Amino acid sequence: MSESEKEITIQNYLEALQNEKLMGSKCKKCGEMFVPPRKLCTKCNSTELKWIEMSGKGKITAFSCIGVGATFMASKGYSMKKPYCFSVVKLDEGPMISGQLIGVDETKPDTIKIDTPVKAIFLKTDIKGEEPRIDLGFIPS
Ligand SMILES: [Zn+2]
Repeated sequence: MSESEKEITIQNYLEALQNEKLMGSKCKKCGEMFVPPRKLCTKCNSTELKWIEMSGKGKITAFSCIGVGATFMASKGYSMKKPYCFSVVKLDEGPMISGQLIGVDETKPDTIKIDTPVKAIFLKTDIKGEEPRIDLGFIPS
C-alpha cells in the first residue's frame, strides 16, 4: 500500500516519521494543511483530506532552552549543564510543528534568532532492546 492510500491517522504519521518522511494532510476543498495530519479540516469542516509530504523547510517562530526536561531527554544526557532547545517551526507550507532544535548553542539562547531558516531532521535514539526511536528535530539550514 502506498503512503497516499493509507488512512490519515497519527499512527501512520509516526510510521512515516520512522521512514524519515514528514507527512501532513491537505484539505482537497480549501487547501489548508495540517501537521500532524488531521482527518477533518478545521477551516472548512471538510472531511476530504489527502496526504502530502512536507519539504521540512521552515522558520523558527518560538523556542525555549530547557535544563530540567522530560525523563526521555534526561536519559539522552541533557541536564542543567547541558540544556536542550525545543522549537516551534512554521513550515514553508504553512503548518506549525514543534521539535528539538539542534546545531545551536543551547547555553546561549540569545544567539538563537526567531525567523532563522531551518530544515527538518530525523533524530534517532537507540533504545536497548527496542527499535530505534525517531523524533522530529530541526537544524539551521
Ligand atoms: Zn478545508
